[in-house]
Amino acid sequence: MRMIRTRVVFILTLAAASAARGQGGAPAAPRAVPILVRDVTLIDGTGAPPRAHMDMLIDRGRIAAIAPAAAGPAADSVIDGRGLYAIPGLIDAHVHLGTDPWAQRAADLERALQGGVTSVFDLAGDARATGDLQRAVLAGQLAGPHVYYVALFGGPRFFTDPRTVDASRGFAPGAAPWMQAVTDTTDVRQAIAVARGTGATGIKLYAALDSLEDARLTAEAHRQGLRVIAHATTFPGRPGDLVAAGADMLAHAPYLVWQGSPRSDDYQGRARGDFAHVAADSPAITGLLRAMAARGVALNPTLWIFANELPRDSVSRLRTPWMYAVTREAQRLGVRIVAGTDEMIAPERDSLPILHDELEVLVRGAGLTPLQAITAGTANAAWAIGVDSLRGTLAVGKAADLVLLGGDPAADIRNTRAIRLVMQDGRVVRPR
Ligand SMILES: [Zn+2]
Repeated sequence: MRMIRTRVVFILTLAAASAARGQGGAPAAPRAVPILVRDVTLIDGTGAPPRAHMDMLIDRGRIAAIAPAAAGPAADSVIDGRGLYAIPGLIDAHVHLGTDPWAQRAADLERALQGGVTSVFDLAGDARATGDLQRAVLAGQLAGPHVYYVALFGGPRFFTDPRTVDASRGFAPGAAPWMQAVTDTTDVRQAIAVARGTGATGIKLYAALDSLEDARLTAEAHRQGLRVIAHATTFPGRPGDLVAAGADMLAHAPYLVWQGSPRSDDYQGRARGDFAHVAADSPAITGLLRAMAARGVALNPTLWIFANELPRDSVSRLRTPWMYAVTREAQRLGVRIVAGTDEMIAPERDSLPILHDELEVLVRGAGLTPLQAITAGTANAAWAIGVDSLRGTLAVGKAADLVLLGGDPAADIRNTRAIRLVMQDGRVVRPR
């Protein structure tokens, strides 16, 4: 049997995959027939250098084998990977799917999947709506990234924020299982159990929480097997409090500036810290980053949204270089960087998901290498969700979530846009 087949086989394979889809566009169950990705350059998401001329065997939704090309096992279906680069499916570890009409969210999710994003982490919203999307993807009723989400905690005064009111319909604000108000007298064990019952993989600490509340919630969430994500300042809780508490990930690089300022209760001013007087390389910030590295606390910088979506004014002119510098230093000191967009997709601007922009700004703004940026958007993002044993890297036993690219993303991060094929759980979802 010939070990090298032609692109004709590739096309036929895809036609068969399309035909296997059920009625109404519902995807079929994982293919019974193994697929061989033949002679591809493998970028596995761990930060390891690209490996040229590799074969990857996909069987029953998982990566069954990885071996040098032509030495690997044969398969009935072959995808010709010559000249292509395989990366893990991209993971946006900061989205808000929101409560817009179902059709719009479904369309956005489908675009995100077509754009190479195979999982997303929703960092607070109405868990009924988010869980519905999660289930629809799992059931094959909706083509989209796998959806994971958190349950949010804040102090009582946070629950006049209109976003919390909208996400808690049917409950008094602060009393929804996925969006709870806590005080010093809250039964934290019960509150975390209720949060866990929403199907969340983690909790998010948002605002109006002090250092004691941050610590109690974090300890109990970990005891119950949940990840702890926090806005990098919880007003009055500061970044260092969250690190001391053992939070898993701090969101929004600019909020680290609050480590160098007096405590504030004003979460509304969160994006307008004192960037003029707290230098990114000041002892307060460097000490914080060293503590994050030592304690294994990740940083979810969300650079793109601060650089592009917030008003350009006297604060943003200082904030943008500050957040780039602090993210660069975090990477240098060994802090795990996790990519996220805080938006997912803006189809009126770009048909591809914003994660491609975030990866680009991690490289061009914060000075990560392209491989470090890819790790931020794959392995590290899976870790933040708590699904790294299943997703985020191209390794034997992992879910076959991958993207084949027509250009080398390790040479130029913009090549993550050169998408030739997207596979999720071993199923080719693009081309359809
Ligand atoms: Zn957010």
